[in-house]
Amino acid sequence: MEIRNGCLICGTNLQYGADYKALTCFYCKGTFQANVACMQGHYVCDQCHANTAIDMIETYCANSKSVNPVEMATEIMRSEKIKMHGNEHHFLVPAVLLTAWCNTIHETTLSVKLATARKRAEKIPGGFCGTHGNCGAGVGTGIFISIITNSTPLAKEGWCLSNLVTGRSLVSIAMHGGPRCCKRDVYLALEESINFLAEKFNVMLASSLVSCEFSENNKECLKTSCKFFLAEMPL
Ligand SMILES: [Zn+2]
Ligand SMILES: [Zn+2]
Repeated sequence: MEIRNGCLICGTNLQYGADYKALTCFYCKGTFQANVACMQGHYVCDQCHANTAIDMIETYCANSKSVNPVEMATEIMRSEKIKMHGNEHHFLVPAVLLTAWCNTIHETTLSVKLATARKRAEKIPGGFCGTHGNCGAGVGTGIFISIITNSTPLAKEGWCLSNLVTGRSLVSIAMHGGPRCCKRDVYLALEESINFLAEKFNVMLASSLVSCEFSENNKECLKTSCKFFLAEMPL
């Protein structure tokens, strides 16, 4: 079992000072008078510290200016609030995609869109991938496209696009084989969505190459058979 005591973001030790100074919270971007930060300068306010994983994802995204969904997902997944596997990843995918989308095209309704995505993603239970053939990270991409196209069951174009992106994500996730890994499936879902937006919407989101930093916490990790596996450097 993973045991972490230090910084929620990077795991290094927390340092307490005698004096209080203005520090910016990593998640909500608020400024607070505080006397504690980690060795790398990260600070998390009391409210964000107490938040659930889902609240943290929503707060982080609502206050982020990032245009890179891969980078945001990695930063969020570093928090000990996000388990190695779990249904919080079902909200994580549409949340970072909506954030990157809104920040890229200067759309101002991000908070409303995040609240909608949260409501929809909460309906996808954990383990859905194994029991319904329907990985929640993949479904998260359909939630994302349905929101940006204002799709409904009666829509024409949005209905088509939102089902299509889910389909593409699920094919990619399936072809990498089991057992499930919520990190791998998140990265694959984001990769498919970034390609999909370029192809269908002519919008290029920023992206990053992934070297997975979570493999040692996953006892079913596919290691070198996973395209995101970061091979350890020989000593
Ligand atoms: Zn830190
Ligand atoms: Zn905060």
